[in-house]
Amino acid sequence: MAGIYIHIPFCKSKCRYCDFTSYPSKLGFAEAYMACLYKEMKLRAAELQDKQFDTVYFGGGTPSIIDEKLIVGCMNQIKKYYHLSDSAEVTIELNPGTVSKEKIEAYKSAGINRFSVGLQVASDALLEEIGRVHTVSDFEETCRLLGEVNFSADIMIGLKGETFADVETSIRLVQKYGAKHVSMYALTPEDGTPIYSDYLNGDLPDADEVAELYGRAYKLLESLGYKRYEVSNFAVPGYESKHNLNYWRRGEYIGFGVAASSFMKNS
Ligand code: SF4
Repeated sequence: MAGIYIHIPFCKSKCRYCDFTSYPSKLGFAEAYMACLYKEMKLRAAELQDKQFDTVYFGGGTPSIIDEKLIVGCMNQIKKYYHLSDSAEVTIELNPGTVSKEKIEAYKSAGINRFSVGLQVASDALLEEIGRVHTVSDFEETCRLLGEVNFSADIMIGLKGETFADVETSIRLVQKYGAKHVSMYALTPEDGTPIYSDYLNGDLPDADEVAELYGRAYKLLESLGYKRYEVSNFAVPGYESKHNLNYWRRGEYIGFGVAASSFMKNS
């Protein structure tokens, strides 16, 4: 197994908890950035000629915010310079409110066959609290646009004021729309982010409270058919993320983009 990771670092605005490398309001640089990324892919191609890649992952940032032609162009570069297996899992992260029917069709035509949608929580008040730019109905609209596809949804626990009822509503909503995979992450209040002051003020749930939420959510997910296959990820059997499993198994991956890392044993 080997994977390719593509980092697209653009976002509409910065979420209050985010310490990822992402640039809000810099969309004007997307084309120039992708041109550099294509060059980087070409530069590394010769040394990886003998390698077959089984997964591709477009992560962010918000990959779905840039023009779909740039994602299609990137897929063309991958196919041109790298050996992608016929059954490769190709995932793109989407944020609700950033996709259209045309965009999704363009992704599918380019070979993207898995979608990871960032819901986080099915409460408009909590979404606003953490600085997300979308609403719950934006998430629902994104699911309708996706139709019958293999998709994963992100859910966060440990938010200020979040109850188990909020988590349960989130889980039931993503199940209703047919998510085959759920990533349930506990909020990590990173120093330097706005949410860190909530942590210092004691406004966030403590570790025991988060552990209890996790335990209850875990049981609910399992009862709905989502089996846990690593700490934070659950899937209907057969829909585990190959790209994710490759990280956990210390498999090789090559990363392209400004904050992507690589783990290639002989390169
Ligand atoms: S959408 Fe993701 S990468 Fe962008 S600011 Fe929010 S958490 Fe960070």
